[in-house]
Order: sequence, then structure tokens, then C-alpha cells
Amino acid sequence: MVVADAGSGRFGRPVKTRFPPEPNGFLHIGHAKSICLNFGIARDFAGACNLRFDDTNPFTEDVRYVDAIREDVRWLGFEWAEERYASDYFEQLYEFAERLVRKGKAYVDSQSEEEIRQGRGTVTTPGSDSPFRGRGVDENLDLLRRMRDGEFADGAHVLRARIDMAHPNMVMRDPLLMRIRKARHYRRGDAWCLYPLYDYAHGLSDAIEGVTHSLCTLEFKDNNDIYRWLVREVGFERPPEQTEFSRLELDYTVVSKRKLLRLVNEGRVAGWDDPRMPTIAALRRRGVRPEAIRAFAEAVGVSRKPQRTEIGILEHSIRDDLNMEVPRVLCVTKPLKVVLTNYPEGQVEELDAPYFPHDVPREGSRKVPFSREIFIEQDDFMADPPKKFFRLAPGREVRLRYAYFITCNEVIMDEAGNVTELRCTYDPATRGGDAPDGRKVQGTIHWVSAARALDCELRLYDRLFRAPDPEGTGEDDFFANLNPDSLVKLAGAKVEPSVAADPPGTRYQFERTGYFWPDPVDSMPGALVFNRIVTLRDSWAKVAAKR
Ligand code: ATP
Ligand code: MG
Repeated sequence: MVVADAGSGRFGRPVKTRFPPEPNGFLHIGHAKSICLNFGIARDFAGACNLRFDDTNPFTEDVRYVDAIREDVRWLGFEWAEERYASDYFEQLYEFAERLVRKGKAYVDSQSEEEIRQGRGTVTTPGSDSPFRGRGVDENLDLLRRMRDGEFADGAHVLRARIDMAHPNMVMRDPLLMRIRKARHYRRGDAWCLYPLYDYAHGLSDAIEGVTHSLCTLEFKDNNDIYRWLVREVGFERPPEQTEFSRLELDYTVVSKRKLLRLVNEGRVAGWDDPRMPTIAALRRRGVRPEAIRAFAEAVGVSRKPQRTEIGILEHSIRDDLNMEVPRVLCVTKPLKVVLTNYPEGQVEELDAPYFPHDVPREGSRKVPFSREIFIEQDDFMADPPKKFFRLAPGREVRLRYAYFITCNEVIMDEAGNVTELRCTYDPATRGGDAPDGRKVQGTIHWVSAARALDCELRLYDRLFRAPDPEGTGEDDFFANLNPDSLVKLAGAKVEPSVAADPPGTRYQFERTGYFWPDPVDSMPGALVFNRIVTLRDSWAKVAAKR
């Protein structure tokens, strides 16, 4: 579509798009799709994309959201041609209103909100004309000016388009254009009290900015008629071309600023950037890179078919982006102490371990200290293992990643029967991970040196809701479907010491565990906190398959 228009030179000027958020919350992954689309088209056609704040509702908007939105768009990797605000167009929109009144295309209605609603009719029955519909131009102009000048209370009068109260599209039944709101606007203060409605401001703002291609989500399809009508009646010669695409709806979460605001306000999450949220700020804090979000937007594509997107597609994009980029290091999430009884006391040797052992064609290695006492994962040991368990068990031998083979000889338990320590022997001939006699072991496990490992806290983030469509389960309130295990904090995890020398913000794959990075707010040298960015594979697929 854009290709055809650009080729034909239909607009006689370069492609111009815009991303038009209302600053009433933080941007979410759905917005990311719209951002990639609008900025992507501008880039692909050597055009420009504006960032326009559709800030016409004084009750819900805030400069804090403006700042967050600017940061998020930039972080995603896009730069806008111009930064615009619908609230800067209030005067112009007012002039347009007078123009419409003079043409007989708009009138001041003095009915109550309730009367106006009743007069609209229904989808199957036509509406009825307001008793004020026949007001003359002079009376309308006089009222309109006094509305602007603050002479009337909220709701005393509204400005409506004069179109057709029997129009098959309900949106076209004399829609409201402007209303009085004696409220403080975050940018305009108290200077202005006659606020344009969304439909009135949106299309005309596009036209004022010379937008050539106006993309919006499908729920605005019915609003296209009023968009075109207004742009034409106000006198713009080349109305923007409108195209709708389906909203992104993502499984196991909600993408609506209003609902996300509820999660924040009711304390269900720690804030807009709580890494469980589907906001851009949260994904950033979690450790996701903008590359992954752009790849996700690409993978989801643009269509007109409303559908939910599997969260696996987002997770795949995140993994795929990190896989080739991030070093592998060793971290034990739930430590179990192992004493190597035949290893010299006090000795520490530095083993060479590649950062990118397989699948990633990259260079680099670090030293990993090995010592008499090490930690392994509790889950990598079973006192009484089933046949298929290939990790450590009494009498069994496993490989320690990058190190030696060890054999478990003795299991120490507390009074409750919990395993507290293992006594093992190591085979000095297997340094580096292979036995000279060619003997094989079936399991390779990760570990860290007890003497040198760093303490850290791991934050394991999971899906915010336990139902794929949190609002479609028949519960009165979708909050009932919140996942109680969406955050698990593991204090006392142990990570290899090499990470202390890495620049802040380094992302890792903790081998066999997941992708992690230090939380940008809470992690500090000496008090490390790592966020799990994403698991190594889809752990929910297994759960679903078992059912
Ligand atoms: P919300 O309900 O989350 O507030 P919105 O559509 O009201 O969403 P706006 O700030 O008005 O949010 O949206 C800015 C732009 O982002 C619009 O062009 C809108 O169509 C687009 N957008 C919003 N949500 C989605 C989504 N889930 N998928 C794709 N595009 C979206
Ligand atoms: Mg909105």
C-alpha cells in the first residue's frame, strides 16, 4: 500500500507517519509493534515519523508519562523527525471549529449528556435530532466563543458535528467535537477549558502535520468516516491515507495502559517497570534488548486478523537475540556443598573456560577457580535416583563442566533427612573434562568454587497471569488469574567470581539455567542481584504437554 503510494508519488511529498500515544501510562509491547511499524515505514521509504502526544484528556495525562514514552521510543532505536503535542493545536482546532460552524457543519448542543446519548438511537434504530440542531450560525459562534472563554460550567454545552442522526455508522450521528473541562492540563495548565474529543483532535492533528499514512488499530475502523469527513470539511486537500491493523494481544498478559495502571495502583506489581509487566520499561529492566523487541515485531507482522499472539514467540525472539551475543558463565541457583576429599586443602587452581563453548563462533575465555570445596545444584544430586537420572548419585561419576570427573562416595544428611553435604573424590587425570582411558560419564553438571564464588540473589520472573487469555476465563475480575508464582527470589545463589570484573549491565547465559543480567536498580558490587531475562527453553510447553 505504502509502496504503491510512494511509487505513484500520490502525495507529491515524502512519506510521513506518526506514532501518536496518549501520555496516560507507560508504553507496552503492543505499542512497540506500532512504533516499529510507523518508524519502520518512514525509514524504508526515506520519509519521516513524528512522535505526537495525543494529549487531549486533562484528567489522565502526566508529564511523567511523556518522559517515559520518549525514553522508550529512543531505547527501541528510533528517532522522531518532530515532537508534537495535540495540546499545542487547541487554538487551531478551535479555529477549525468556528470554520465548521460558519459552514453550517457544526452546532452547539445544550442537551445533557444523558439526553445526547438517548438521542443517538441504536445500531438498528435511527437517532433523533437535538432540539438545538437548528441553531443559527451567529448564535452558535457566540456560544462557542463563550464556551472557550470559560463562561459555562462543564457539560453545559458541547460542540457537535452536523451530519446525519440516521447515519448507519453510529459514529457519524452528529459526533461530539469539543466539550468544556475546567481541569488542569499537565501542559496547558488552566489556560484552556474547551477540549477537543479524540476523534476531533486525532485526524486533524494528522492533517496539520502533513501525515501521508495514518496507521491505527482495528477498533478505530468505525472512526475512519468521521476522520475523513472532518479533514475534508475543514478544508485539507490531501487527507492522510488510513490503514488499520490488528492490535497485538499477548498471551498470559494484558496490553492496555488502563489495566496495567490498575496493576500498579493496586500494588500487584512493584511499578511500571516491574520486570513481569509487558511494558517496554519492564522488558528493558528485565534485560531484554531492543533488538529482540524489534525482531518480535517483525515476527508478529502486520495483519487485519484479530488474534492473540503466543508468548513463546516473544520468548523465542529474546533467546534468539541473546544466544549469539552473551557469554556463558557458571552460577549455582540452589547450592549443595561438595567436599573433594582427595583434593589438597588450601589449593586453588585456575581453570581456563571458554565464554562461548558451542553454537557461538566467538572467541574469549576466563579463569574459573577450582578448590577442595565446591557447590553444585541441589537438583543435580539424588540419593536414590531413578534409572534415567544421569547426574550425581551415590557411587556415580559425573563431569564438572570445564573441570574434572568426580565420584560420590558419601552423603551427609541432617536429622530431618535433608542432604547437607556430599563427599566425593576427583580424578586428577580428567582435568579439562576428558579421561585419558577413554571412559565416559553420562552427565555434565555446573558448579562453582565455594572459596571463591560470589553470593547473589536471583529473581526468577515468570508469566504475570496463569491463563493465556486472562480476561477470557469467566472470572469477574481478571486479577483472579494472576500467577502467584510470577516472581521467585532465590537468595544465596552462588556465581563464579569472573562476573565481578565485567562492565555493569553485562548479560549472561548461566549455563543450564537461563539468561540473566544484573538488575539495574537493585544490584550492587558486593550485593549482586540478577534478573532472569528468559529461560533456556519453554518450560510451560512441557507442563501443557503433560496435561
Ligand atoms: P491502551 O489501551 O494501552 O491505552 P491505546 O490504543 O489507547 O492503548 P494510545 O496511546 O492511544 O494507546 O496508542 C498509541 C498508538 O499505539 C496508537 O496508534 C495505537 O493504535 C497503538 N497501539 C496501542 N495498543 C496497541 C496494541 N496492543 N497493538 C498495536 N498497536 C497498539
Ligand atoms: Mg487510549
